[in-house]
Amino acid sequence: MSATLIAQIIDGKEASARLKDAVAAAVADLKAKHNIVPGLATVLVGEDPASQVYVASKNKTAHALGMNSRQITLPADAPEADVLALIQKLNADPDVHGILVQLPVPKHIDSFKVITTTSPSKDVDGLHPESAGRLVAGGEALVPCTPMGCVMMAKDVLGDLSGLHAVVVGRSNLVGKPVASLLLNENCTVTIAHSRTKDLAAVCRTADILVAAVGRKEMIRGDWIKPGATVIDVGINRETQADGKNKLFGDVHFAEASQVAKFITPVPGGVGLMTVACLMVNTLKACVTQNGITNVVVPMRLPPRK
Ligand code: NDP
Repeated sequence: MSATLIAQIIDGKEASARLKDAVAAAVADLKAKHNIVPGLATVLVGEDPASQVYVASKNKTAHALGMNSRQITLPADAPEADVLALIQKLNADPDVHGILVQLPVPKHIDSFKVITTTSPSKDVDGLHPESAGRLVAGGEALVPCTPMGCVMMAKDVLGDLSGLHAVVVGRSNLVGKPVASLLLNENCTVTIAHSRTKDLAAVCRTADILVAAVGRKEMIRGDWIKPGATVIDVGINRETQADGKNKLFGDVHFAEASQVAKFITPVPGGVGLMTVACLMVNTLKACVTQNGITNVVVPMRLPPRK
């Protein structure tokens, strides 16, 4: 008997298009009411091909939504002091509301210094310790984009997340910890699992919402998933195929999981697309906050489907 797909796919392309439309409308509203255009500055150090693609896509999306965006590229051997001086210059530039230094930076540059030099008010990646602290302690914060996208997608299909058990596999500052904090803020009961977790499969099986942010191809198997669960797969694992082409895999074994879960994000075509859209949300939010504007609504959740 051939396997039948029972899970409903959470389509990142469709969801991110809805969010981007809402951001574009808010950007137009901001321009009409205040004649202000949000400005994003992306900084790329070196020529890593994947980073080049990511940064180009961020700039292109910003322009498409009516924002200003500029990319500054420094050579791979740029001294750390030059990178930090550039960030300070952008911190002081009133036309730049959001600063994104594409990570990872070359090894001779301390990424923590890069993150902490960025003004928290312009920290659209949400990685500054002040942003992280605000997320945990409560209060307005620029939240890391991928976690924001994960929670928006879960809320889009489930509505109220209150009381659901969320298991987050992975505890990085970029994904695992902030997604856990956001789910806690949504009144989920949250378990954070990691490489030292005992009987990970059993822990995963208790999840109403399972977020996989590990970086290991298809590690999470179908029998790790509670029937009817919502699975958000953050993993991006590249593998070169026999024909020389790169193929992307998630952290979840999609073919197996989609026969058990109720909702699931695919890889590619899932969380990754929401990440860029959420960066646009953060750039708009940073601009509105820096200008003390209260009559433009920043979309903080996915608008309903038309
Ligand atoms: P990190 O490598 O920083 O963190 C991975 C986490 O997974 C760690 O907490 C680690 O645990 C845990 N882990 C590793 N192996 C195991 C295991 N065998 N069992 C349980 N836990 C394990 O990765 P990131 O958080 O930065 O990224 C995670 C994935 O998400 C990657 O595939 C990345 O490419 C992808 N990603 C996708 C984005 C998107 O836009 N879709 C954006 C950002 C990341 P420990 O702490 O104990 O070492």
